[in-house]
Amino acid sequence: MLVIIVILALISASFLFNSQIDKLKKQIDNIYFGNFVPLITLDIVLKNYQTIIKCKKMTHNKCDITAEKIVILKNWQNYYKSYKTINERKIVNDVNKSILTSFKIDKILAYEVILKQISFLKEHEVDIAYKQRREFLIDYSNMKDYLLYNLIIIIIFSFGIIAFIIYQIIKKDNQLTILNKKYKIESITDSMTKLYNRKYFDTIFDNLPFISNANNWKSAFIMVDIDFFKQYNDTYGHDLGDETLKSVANELKTYFNKEFEYVFRLGGEEFGVVLFDTNEDILIECLEDINKRIVDLKIEHKGSKILDVVSISIGAVIYQPHSYISANKLYKIADENLYKSKQNGRNQFSL
Ligand code: GH3
Ligand code: MG
Ligand code: MG
Repeated sequence: MLVIIVILALISASFLFNSQIDKLKKQIDNIYFGNFVPLITLDIVLKNYQTIIKCKKMTHNKCDITAEKIVILKNWQNYYKSYKTINERKIVNDVNKSILTSFKIDKILAYEVILKQISFLKEHEVDIAYKQRREFLIDYSNMKDYLLYNLIIIIIFSFGIIAFIIYQIIKKDNQLTILNKKYKIESITDSMTKLYNRKYFDTIFDNLPFISNANNWKSAFIMVDIDFFKQYNDTYGHDLGDETLKSVANELKTYFNKEFEYVFRLGGEEFGVVLFDTNEDILIECLEDINKRIVDLKIEHKGSKILDVVSISIGAVIYQPHSYISANKLYKIADENLYKSKQNGRNQFSL
């Protein structure tokens, strides 16, 4: 695109230059041939008349003027036929008549009259040449300005377009960066609850033992499951079920919002929380809190066999640094603890 713009700018500049150079050439032609040639022609006519007069004076009118006459008529015809203005034409017609009659009269006096007339024409042609030269110089300087301004316009225009294209590229690039970021976030986010998704959970959770060892942290994994959720859907419908899922997810996300705290949707009505750098006391407090907070949401659940509001059961486990228990094993323990909570009556946690 840039290359095309530069080429177009160069082509238009060269057309512009070419047209102006053509104009210049015409002007020079005009001055050179338009003024120089008539002067030479008139000069030849003048010289031949002078020769005739001189010869006639020396030979007392007995002089053969045939050769001079031919030259005079031929050159005069050339001059006579060339372009003349209306006023010039009147004078030139008069001179033409005088020339033709001069040869009929064939007297020195008649030729001398012609001499004056031709001299007058020569002076007139010189005047015109000066005038045209002045006009040419004015035209030439205008032309130079015209070319300069046009070039500046072409350069500004090209730069404008190039700047616009660069701006568009930068804009596109920014859009792409934003899109990439969005895509990255989207790729690790569960679309319904806006929690981290299962895929991201696998990445974080697999690294839990290594991260904990490296930082000498105790870390926790919490598994959360909504109680009697099947019945909830059956009672209130799937759409309201979704809303409740979002409410529970939101509550977990709001509660675990500090650095190194991650909340995931593991699938269905099951959530996972990973807490780095924690301990048993903090964890127990958190677990009690979230059990209570979900009940405090007071989401009606008539199908629940333990309460008339939505509740959750929790299975949790703490990883001791350098205990070298695998992530798989931790998951299994948490799952077993969750099962225990369910077995023991739900709406509780097991650690
Ligand atoms: P328990 O207390 O033992 O966990 O009982 P439960 O009914 O919650 O457990 P179960 O595994 O039998 O049922 C889980 C239900 O969760 C079944 C399914 O319809 C519902 N569920 C899973 N994912 C979604 C979802 O995205 N939206 C809605 N509305 N329901 C879902
Ligand atoms: Mg379940
Ligand atoms: Mg359940």
